[in-house]
Amino acid sequence: MRATALFVILSVIWASHATATDFSSCVAGLREAAVRAGVSRSVASQALDVTQPDEKVLRLSKVQPEFKTPIWDYLAFLVDEQRVSDGRAMMRKYDRILRAVEQRFGVNRHVIVAVWGIETDYGQETGDSFLPHALSTLVCQGGQRTAFWRGELIAALKLVDRGDLKLSELNGSWAGAFGQTQFIPTTYQRLAVDFDGDGRRDLVNSVADALGSTANYLKRAGWRPGEPWMIEVKVPPGYSGPTGRKNRAALSTWAHRGLVRADGAKLSGGAQAGLLLPAGLRGPGFLTFRNFDTVYAYNHAESYAISISHLADRLAGHPSLRTPWPTDDAGLSRAKRLHLQKLLLASGYDIGEADGKIGPATRAAIAEAEKRFGMQPTGRAGQTIYRAFGGK
Ligand code: CA
Repeated sequence: MRATALFVILSVIWASHATATDFSSCVAGLREAAVRAGVSRSVASQALDVTQPDEKVLRLSKVQPEFKTPIWDYLAFLVDEQRVSDGRAMMRKYDRILRAVEQRFGVNRHVIVAVWGIETDYGQETGDSFLPHALSTLVCQGGQRTAFWRGELIAALKLVDRGDLKLSELNGSWAGAFGQTQFIPTTYQRLAVDFDGDGRRDLVNSVADALGSTANYLKRAGWRPGEPWMIEVKVPPGYSGPTGRKNRAALSTWAHRGLVRADGAKLSGGAQAGLLLPAGLRGPGFLTFRNFDTVYAYNHAESYAISISHLADRLAGHPSLRTPWPTDDAGLSRAKRLHLQKLLLASGYDIGEADGKIGPATRAAIAEAEKRFGMQPTGRAGQTIYRAFGGK
């Protein structure tokens, strides 16, 4: 027995030692690959002076989206009143830059600012993972898509080499998106522009470079100047015609199919749009145009592109959605999410620190609280549980 136990212990020690050695030799290999790809040895050595995988990156890269967020929750926090008023303030502050960006790229300023607002809350939340470590962890421990992560790592180091950024400025999401509007390094390399003309493409510190580069991205993705991106519509009861972003038809055809603008006005003209019904026939409908697809290209999720498009409308002074979502338990703004967490803490639920982010601990506490109030446990941060705690 003792011999067997000792053998197990030695095996474990040997295995963990082997893993550490594997990681170090994998990182050493990456360093050489970067140098072969044209990165200077000093930058490669400094960036990849790492012996341990980034545990946070490993954890985040393995999280499965076990909780399906309803679209009304998603929009409630991405397009809340705070983000609208902050965005309007940014439009005033950077008016001169936005005019110049619009003039050069032809992309509507409200959409550019909406991307900025949703990606990083106007530059406030750009991510704190050090990219060389995050990406080398994904190459050497991640398992999947290693060639993709390796390419992103080398592209990131080249940005430092060519003088766009300092090594210490390569901080972003665990998956390598970084800067004011969260470009991944290969996109940065391909599409970033030096809009303020200081000789560096700095999407970390220069708002002008970030907004110009975002406009360049949308332009290259096929933006058409002067055309709309999305309009809210009313769909006739029992509608069973075509849906989907790519199933485009002229606005006059949609009028024939019984659709009207959300305010009741008639649809007309030849502009081509597809119909999205993200919550089915009982929720709001959206006609989406070619320009909507350029936003979709930024991040392949329809709920994401709807959020950007709607925030852009709000920044342009349009009202919030006319048709309510088909739920009696609407989503919460960021301020109310944070308040709900404080109420949970005050009632003794252990959710760690209140940060406005609804993670597994908050969801578990909400489910417990729902049971206590005699409600069906859902774990969702909605108006019903918020009001049950006295929130308004
Ligand atoms: Ca610049």
